[in-house]
Amino acid sequence: MPDSYLETDLSKIKHLASVKEKENIRFRSFLKGQSGSKVDRIVHELHNEIIAQIDCTLCGNCCCTLKPELHKDDIALLAQLENTAPKNYISSYCEKDNGEIFLKTEPCRYLRDKKCSIYESRVPMNVVISLIPIKKDLYYACGACWNFMQFVQLYSI
Ligand code: SF4
Ligand code: SF4
Repeated sequence: MPDSYLETDLSKIKHLASVKEKENIRFRSFLKGQSGSKVDRIVHELHNEIIAQIDCTLCGNCCCTLKPELHKDDIALLAQLENTAPKNYISSYCEKDNGEIFLKTEPCRYLRDKKCSIYESRVPMNVVISLIPIKKDLYYACGACWNFMQFVQLYSI
């Protein structure tokens, strides 16, 4: 389990990420080749522990720099908040990429003063879990993701 010390300074994380880039690339390739159950167990335990120690309300960087993916239920909810039909919501506020739908603005159109203005109906970024595939920019931009990746390396090897 992680110690209580986590690195959350994004400028330090950016520096560490460039120093450890090759190591992290190798590890992501290693992870992709692993069978599910052991990695899944470690991922979920670490995810819960690390997220519990990070105060996202002091950061908001993912809401500034990443586009959340929207699923059908998210679109229905957001369209209702905007008093429009889901189809209109998609054409006005979304973009498609490989069949997936994302909010098209960065920062997120619902971010106000570094806080989510629709917190009760927010679209979860799910950045920590979704870093696993290949999107290195996700964990370079997020203290939770960075620490998560470092601890997964420790516990997986
Ligand atoms: S909906 Fe809220 S939590 Fe989700 S990206 Fe936008 S501002 Fe951030
Ligand atoms: S998920 Fe990461 S980038 Fe987003 S607010 Fe939390 S620590 Fe910051």
